[in-house]
Amino acid sequence: MIIRARYVLPMDAPPIRDGNVLVEGERIVAVSSSGAIPDVDLGEAVLFPGLINAHCHLDYTDMLGLVPWRGDFRDWILQITALKKQWTEDRYLASINHGLAELARTGTTSVVNIECYPKLVARLAPTPLRVWWCVELLDLTWSEDSRRMVEHADRWLKTQPRGGLAPHAPYTTSAPLYRLAARTAREHGWLLTTHLAETRGENEMFRLQGDPVSLAELGVLGTNCVAAHGNHLSDAEAESLARAGGSVVHCPRAHRFFGRGEAPWGLWRRAGLNSCLGTDSLASNESLDLRAEMRTVTQFPARDVLAMATVNAAKALNCEGKLGKIAVGSWADLAAVPLDGDPYESVARSEKPVCFSMVGGKVVQQ
Ligand SMILES: [Zn+2]
Repeated sequence: MIIRARYVLPMDAPPIRDGNVLVEGERIVAVSSSGAIPDVDLGEAVLFPGLINAHCHLDYTDMLGLVPWRGDFRDWILQITALKKQWTEDRYLASINHGLAELARTGTTSVVNIECYPKLVARLAPTPLRVWWCVELLDLTWSEDSRRMVEHADRWLKTQPRGGLAPHAPYTTSAPLYRLAARTAREHGWLLTTHLAETRGENEMFRLQGDPVSLAELGVLGTNCVAAHGNHLSDAEAESLARAGGSVVHCPRAHRFFGRGEAPWGLWRRAGLNSCLGTDSLASNESLDLRAEMRTVTQFPARDVLAMATVNAAKALNCEGKLGKIAVGSWADLAAVPLDGDPYESVARSEKPVCFSMVGGKVVQQ
């Protein structure tokens, strides 16, 4: 199948005017300027690599507007915990399905999803999206139950095409659970994703005893580490995470929801940290539209912001060469928007809705 658009954004090369992308099976086999008659002519549109949401909680999609921010992070988490107890499995299923549908509509083709209820996944309608189901783990204090939690997640992940382990955060997850999750993830090549340094002083928030431990002691350092937020990493922590090949995920509108100031871009950049974008959940955001996140990041050129949601995220997922670029050999995960001025700005600045998307050579939206 040949797809043509006024501009194609390969990401590792300049925009191609009147670009043709030849897709065979699930992969891209040629990218060129014009040539043969296309099967799909997108006209005045920009074709770009499908977006990768590097931090999301689909479970909470239907919590939109239900968890107000009252100025205290602990209070906000406790509100969610209370709401979760009231929700039935069917409510969660609907919530996850709504989230997947919204991602698909808005040009996201891959998502790192923190999942509290992996047993529900078998009951979902098959999704065309690539979902890294990352099983949430938390224990407050280590016990035999913590070990069983990891064993259970381990067994389940072996039935999935991709996924990871998600120890929740240093203030809700014991150090032994972190270490076991990290070791298990490393052994199987799964992601290890966790909320890290989201708020100042968070280690004291829930865990009343015990000293704060280093990232190395938690075992999270590695190329498979996807750290959400990282707002209060020290220079040394950011550098050690970067040196280990880990990534940080900024969630711009959730950041704003909590009234946080400028994200520590300078720190992340100095440390050489690979930075990605995520939506977090709708308990702290308005939508799962990653382009709306991009529009919030105005400090950098549109091309760099798009790279965070494509090239950088592909690196975080250890999927370089398969995701994040329109290049020969990559999976045909693509999206398009109407051309609206500059091609990069059409994606990262314009609000015109996504008009086409494809995952693994299968059209999702047209
Ligand atoms: Zn989160």
